[in-house]
This record gives sequence, structure tokens and C-alpha cells, in this order.
Amino acid sequence: MKSFYLETFGCQMNVHDSEKVIGTLLERGYRQTEDAGEASLVLYNTCSIRDKAEQKVFNKLQQHKRHGKEQVIGVLGCVAQQEGEKIFERAPYVSLVVGSASYTKLPELLVQIEQGNRRVTGLSLDTDETFDTPLTRRDNPYRAFLTIIEGCDKNCAYCVVPFTRGPERSRAAQGVLDEVKQLAAAGYTEIMLLGQNVNSYLDPSPRGWNFARLLREVGQVEGIRRVRFTTSHPRDFTKEIIDAIDDVPALCNHVHLPVQSGSSKVLEAMQRQYTREQYLERIGWMKNARRKISITTDIIVGFPGETEADFQETVRLLDEVEYDGLFSFKYSQRPNTPALRFDDHVPEEEKGRRLLQLLEHQRTILVRNNAGYVGETEQVHTEHFNAATGQWVGKTTQHKTVNFTHPQGPEAAIEGRYLDVLVTRSGVASLAGEAIVM
Ligand code: SF4
Repeated sequence: MKSFYLETFGCQMNVHDSEKVIGTLLERGYRQTEDAGEASLVLYNTCSIRDKAEQKVFNKLQQHKRHGKEQVIGVLGCVAQQEGEKIFERAPYVSLVVGSASYTKLPELLVQIEQGNRRVTGLSLDTDETFDTPLTRRDNPYRAFLTIIEGCDKNCAYCVVPFTRGPERSRAAQGVLDEVKQLAAAGYTEIMLLGQNVNSYLDPSPRGWNFARLLREVGQVEGIRRVRFTTSHPRDFTKEIIDAIDDVPALCNHVHLPVQSGSSKVLEAMQRQYTREQYLERIGWMKNARRKISITTDIIVGFPGETEADFQETVRLLDEVEYDGLFSFKYSQRPNTPALRFDDHVPEEEKGRRLLQLLEHQRTILVRNNAGYVGETEQVHTEHFNAATGQWVGKTTQHKTVNFTHPQGPEAAIEGRYLDVLVTRSGVASLAGEAIVM
């Protein structure tokens, strides 16, 4: 029997794409295996957001060179699209190279592989299709990913996404709503709407709903208790989105709004299309909302031309916004991106110093912020039991991780349930507490 092994690198979009690829393969009669050595088809769904991510893939591929087994090796996702047919030269034992914009063609590409073709590619970015399939095989039984828009029309100077995922194309609102209703009927209560830039969602059907309207409608589907979305772009982020969060209880009061830098000069060089002031205006909308909205962000340090003064503007932004979470990275050059032409590079050591300072500064803010939850009761969507700590783990609507005890311990069988938890302690990255059991 044909079997496949699929390993996924990178973001939630890739994880969800893999869920669809798995569904497509199972539908074609393949059996999934966790052992790459025994699979007849080995696939890597790849990420090229940073150089390190790309290297990981080629290191993995090297292993197959040594095996010399009769296996079909395939590279999917962003490195596939970025490197294309060059992968066949670099790794001659690879037979399939498919970018995410070509996943709708996967069944016919697999036919070519099954007929013995050993140089099969799907690399066109010229598409208005989104990868909608009823064959999605989701791992998590309680929380479902759902892509509403693919690709990106922005052109941030450091980013590979427009070259690896193609132009923006939104999924028809009716298709999104139908899938949410099916998920609710299947017992899902939490939905994560995905897109490189969900805010620029625009329903292609005559209905023409924008993101805020779609969000409201998804949040009112019966049975759905939590709706999250990522990733937002400050230029397309509207007050309407905050109003929707204020009005529709199922919409989670958490927004991930990547700023990338606190300096308008650096933001311009990054081609982010907003200034520090415009960004802070969006933050103001959140801070003045009726519900308490938690805010997280992404920041790149050491972008070409970033001076110490620019960097200190980023540090000051942390104090002004008081983020509930920060993902921060050192700038790394990426193929095809506009920033490749930029000079004035920041030395690696200096990038490292800035990253450390930023994370240290954010740490003090997190300690202070999280301490404010002690004594509060939070509703937690329970995910799993952590045997190592003897605690249950779940998330609040603000996307805070809560580790909590339950009188019945591991026997409580509360996966996927919503519980009230009294917060008794707080740390940097999470809260701790006790389940309130009547
Ligand atoms: S908005 Fe910018 S950073 Fe985000 S995916 Fe698009 S080009 Fe990349």
C-alpha cells in the first residue's frame, strides 16, 4: 500500500496547508506513517522566512541521499516556490517540487509521480484560486484553522511571501461560512482564521464583505464560542474590526499586529506603508475598546540602516504599547527581496545585542502585565494535561496560556472544555491557577 510521511516547517498557514495535503493523499488511498524511513512518498512542507529555516530543509533532504531507498521525495511550500527546479540540481533524488499556489493541482501531479515521472513541478503563481478542499484532515479536534485569504500584495522589503505564495486571493464568504457551520456541527468550538494579511480580505462574490463583516458573521455561527485571526497588517487594520470584537462575544479580545520597528524611518525603508504614529493610532483604538484587548506583535532588529537611535525608538514603543507578547528576530537577507540591494548592514553581533536588549525589556513588561491577572477568574479553553507539571493547560480569550490544577487531576477528562480558573500566580509567559469546580 502506498504510504506517505509529511513533515511541516514554519507558520500556521503551512500547518493548515499540510492538513489539506494529508486529506488529499488519504483520499487517493495513501496511508500516513510517522516513519520517514518506511514511507514510499516523503514530503517536506517548507518555510523560507529566514535563512535558517531554509537550511533546515536541505539538511533533511541530505538524509535521503544517504538512505538510497526506493522512495519518492517531494518538497512543498515556500522553499519549493522560491528555489523551484534548482532543487533538482541541489538534491537530485528529489522528484516533486510544488509551491502552495499549486496545491489545487496536487492530485494530477501525484498521477505523474505514480506513472514514474521523476521531475514533477507545480510552480505557477499565476492563479486566482484558493486551496479549498473538503478533504482537510485536522489534527486538533477542538480548534480548527481556516484560511480565508492566500498570498500577499504588499511588498515589505525583507519578506519572501509575495514571491513564494503569490498575489492576494480571498475565499468566497459563503464557502468560509459553510465550512465554519460544518466545523461547528462536527463539534469544533474554536476557529482560527488565517491569512498572510487577513485584514485585506475582500469577498470576491457580489456580496463583497470585507474582513470586519466576515468576522462578525463567523462569530455568530451557532456553536462557535471563540474566533481568532492572524496575521494582521497595520495599514489595513480598521476601527471596524475593534467594533466587531466589542460587539460579538465569540470574537476573542486578542489582536496580533506586527509593527516590525518603532522608527518611522526604518518602517519606510521596510516599505511597511505606515508610520509609528499611524500604528499607535490603531493601538489607541484597541486601548479604548470596551473589552480589554491583549496585543502581541513581531519586531525585526538590525534592518539595514537601523541606527541605535532608531532601535531606541523601538524599545520606547514597547513601553508605550505594553505588549502581551513579542516575537522578535534578527534581520536576515532573503532571496528576491528589495532589501537585498540595501547597504549599511548592521553587524551580526550588534543585531544580537539589540535582540537581547529588546527581549529583556519586554520581559519586565510581561512580568508586570501578567501580575495584574492574579486574583482574577479567567475562562480557559482546555487543550491538554501536562504530565510533567501535573497541570492542565489552556488558553484565555486574550490568548494567555494558563497552567491549572483540577481536583480530579489527569482523570478530569476536560480536553476541549471551557472552565473558569482562578488565577493564583503569574510568570513571564503564562498564568497559573485552580479550576473552579462547583
Ligand atoms: S504584509 Fe509584508 S511581511 Fe506580511 S506577508 Fe506581506 S509582504 Fe510579507
